[in-house]
Amino acid sequence: MREGRKHTPEELEKMSAAHRGVKLSPEHRAAISAGQKGLHQPRRAEAQRGPKNHEWKGGLKKYMGYIRQQSPDHPYAKRGYVWQHRLVMEAHLGRVLLPSEVVHHINGKAGDNRIENLMLFSSKEEHAKYHHFGLYLRKKGFQNEHKN
Ligand SMILES: [Zn+2]
Repeated sequence: MREGRKHTPEELEKMSAAHRGVKLSPEHRAAISAGQKGLHQPRRAEAQRGPKNHEWKGGLKKYMGYIRQQSPDHPYAKRGYVWQHRLVMEAHLGRVLLPSEVVHHINGKAGDNRIENLMLFSSKEEHAKYHHFGLYLRKKGFQNEHKN
């Protein structure tokens, strides 16, 4: 629903700042590694079996590691599909993302769409800034891989 309540730029900034804080806390990083040990990844087996860019599970498609989910009624659906990471973020926020907003995968795994692996940026510019900052953090020993 395009006409759903929109967040002000201030609110968006607050949210992305909050995500940034969460991202860098040791507790959060620990939660991520716990998740990677196999919790909450029921689709992993199918993901590995399916060839690239091929429909591999009812209503889901994979492209370059990213998952698209069938969602024909979505206001920003393309050919009936929407990036799953955007849907997950939308469910979390309770609103539809603007086309200008960017969802980032914290651990760099494009198919890992757990909400705790996702981070919202209000624009491509904010996202790019974060990646420059990420380079700095990596040098300091923080992990921040990326594939958009
Ligand atoms: Zn990114």
